Amino acid sequence: MRILLTNDDGILAPGLLALYRELRNLGQVDVVAPESVQSAAAHSITVRYPIIARPLHVGGEFHGYSVEGSPADCVKLAFHAVLDRKPDLVVSGINAGANAGVHVLYSGTVAAAAEGAIQGCPAIAVSLEYSDELNFTRAAKLSIHVIRSILDHGIEPGDLVSINIPDLREGWPLGIRVASQSITPYAESFEQRTDPNGRPYYWLSAKSLRETLEHEDTDLRAVLDGYICVTPLKVNLTDRARLQHMRSWKWPALETR
Ligand code: MN
Repeated sequence: MRILLTNDDGILAPGLLALYRELRNLGQVDVVAPESVQSAAAHSITVRYPIIARPLHVGGEFHGYSVEGSPADCVKLAFHAVLDRKPDLVVSGINAGANAGVHVLYSGTVAAAAEGAIQGCPAIAVSLEYSDELNFTRAAKLSIHVIRSILDHGIEPGDLVSINIPDLREGWPLGIRVASQSITPYAESFEQRTDPNGRPYYWLSAKSLRETLEHEDTDLRAVLDGYICVTPLKVNLTDRARLQHMRSWKWPALETR
């Protein structure tokens, strides 16, 4: 099996290396990842500038391509330019920080996997809840169990799955939960400061995941409770129920010229 590995924390990120070491047991791993940190890049792509991709040898461990672009750029480039063969699986991560709830929409990690799904591959994003001690080695071992299980049960081309691992305190994870994406807004605020010219500027200050109140059975709840959460996601954002309803509306006749 050929696996494309990418992330949004950059090709030198420890989370990517840890996952690389485990994924090697599943097949041949090609790494195409951003040169710099691309957190919160979401599904952005580069269209107004050229994209530089350099072959890079990382830590005596792997050869990859370091890309001056977004996570989605990396995956597009892997499929259409730098790899000699289409991958059988796209894996993105391990991200430093959970990508649960509305953060799925801001996440470059999930977007890279989503791009893999768009390109017609099964795709899996892996994220680890942020804590002072990010044990990526252990997180990678845990995620490979989950990835193997997903592969055994079956994942189709175009299927997108997000795995969130809770912080790895003593005794955690407590198990695996399959749960939907939360839409509860995160606890966050803007800090206002003053620049040297006396003008106000603002800095988004996200609070810990643990300050977000989540009462539903969601990805966020699972991670907060100490479970690994597996969430099947869809690239297609269409609201099917409202689609039917809106089709029944009386729409105005338009002048054709
Ligand atoms: Mn990140």
